[in-house]
Amino acid sequence: MKTYDLIVCGAGPGGSIAARNAAQKGLKVALIEKERLPRHKTCGGGIPSTVIEHLQELDPETFIESKVKHMRHTWNFTDEATSAINLPDSDNDLSIWMVRRNVFDNALAMQAVMAGADLIEETTVSSIKRENGEIKLYAKQKNNREDFIAKSRYLIGADGAKGQVSKVAGLRPNRKNVTAIEIEYPYEWRSGNQDLRLDVMHLEYGAIPGGYAWVFPKKNHLNIGGGIIDNRFLSVGQNQKEIIHKAISGYLDHLEIPHDKNKLTYFAHPIPIWNGKEQLHTDDSHILLVGDAAGLVNPYLGDGISHAITSGSIAAECVANNTVDQYTDKIYDKLGSHFDASLRLANIFYRFPRLLYPLVKRSRSAHHAMEMLRGNTPRLSTPISQFIFNWMLGFKH
Ligand SMILES: Cc1cc2nc3c(=O)[nH]c(=O)nc-3n(C[C@H](O)[C@H](O)[C@H](O)COP(=O)(O)OP(=O)(O)OC[C@H]3O[C@@H](n4cnc5c(N)ncnc54)[C@H](O)[C@@H]3O)c2cc1C
Repeated sequence: MKTYDLIVCGAGPGGSIAARNAAQKGLKVALIEKERLPRHKTCGGGIPSTVIEHLQELDPETFIESKVKHMRHTWNFTDEATSAINLPDSDNDLSIWMVRRNVFDNALAMQAVMAGADLIEETTVSSIKRENGEIKLYAKQKNNREDFIAKSRYLIGADGAKGQVSKVAGLRPNRKNVTAIEIEYPYEWRSGNQDLRLDVMHLEYGAIPGGYAWVFPKKNHLNIGGGIIDNRFLSVGQNQKEIIHKAISGYLDHLEIPHDKNKLTYFAHPIPIWNGKEQLHTDDSHILLVGDAAGLVNPYLGDGISHAITSGSIAAECVANNTVDQYTDKIYDKLGSHFDASLRLANIFYRFPRLLYPLVKRSRSAHHAMEMLRGNTPRLSTPISQFIFNWMLGFKH
């Protein structure tokens, strides 16, 4: 049996950043992943470019497929408006990076390996025992009859929306998962509808009650998907999967992309959206949750990659400094109040999307969405509208 200072379960962005940072601080780290990397991850793969602050020497050009600078909004595929992420008078040159998750996640896992972490792939954590202040972990290995067994003082659960660690640790009893589905449709950029551009992402609000559909441009395909963020607005008997499939096919029709809707390959996965403050470490301070395992997904937009990275970094710092008892509060200070405000915004927007769509169409809406993606309060054009917005939603910074 191997002994580590820290075991990280799951090599998504949250787990790999936690493993990398902890190994760089001198800890002996195991990063356990049930798949063989690089692996597919069901996701849109849109990340705010400000995530660069966490990448260290990793060159973004090795994984970026396109840099989105504009958002094209529609209501039921009509009433369209396109707005720019960067305002004409701002110095910032921000974009939403489009990545393929297999490439991006693999690059982060390799950073953890370079920092000294043991990456143990095709190994599924199956049970965890806690004895005398130590964690004993058992995992099934794909090509080995023997279980992988290791012990450690600390365990980080970075095992995603369906993760086991939170359950074993008795954390997050009030989790809230929503449904999201995507397809990766091959696309050649030489021809086609003129609304399709590598620097434009598309967002559609009328086709999915309580959610939205998207088209994200990638090098050789379009990522087309949809999510139902709030299912209270579905009529009785409406099937979530059918609604999202119809929206995806509707987007292909709208963008004049020939397709056979019976032959599309759909990938579905739950998104565990923020549902208020919860304890994210055990009382004995030995187990912590990061990323999707911790429910750190913005409840308005449904994005979680950058929050997985932020929480992975905070978790590694707490383990290295022996301050795990402060972990939940640190996460709440960094992400929680913004998520609380986003939850209030989601409750209003997804209840009255038709009424509020004219606000989405305004010229600064893509800039505001970008501010939210990077964890800032959107800056409105007049002090009075800013005051009302902040007061209603509780945005602080
Ligand atoms: C359809 C869809 C579209 C999305 N689009 C976006 C987007 O455009 N932008 C955005 O920011 N977010 C998006 N998200 C959310 C985003 O995918 C997640 O928030 C993000 O992947 C969380 O990262 P993570 O590291 O916490 O977990 P994950 O990326 O889920 O990684 C968890 C890892 O743990 C491994 N694992 C699980 N169980 C075990 C086990 N028992 N033992 C060992 N390993 C295990 C898994 O194989 C996986 O590799 C989307 C989600 C969905 C479903």
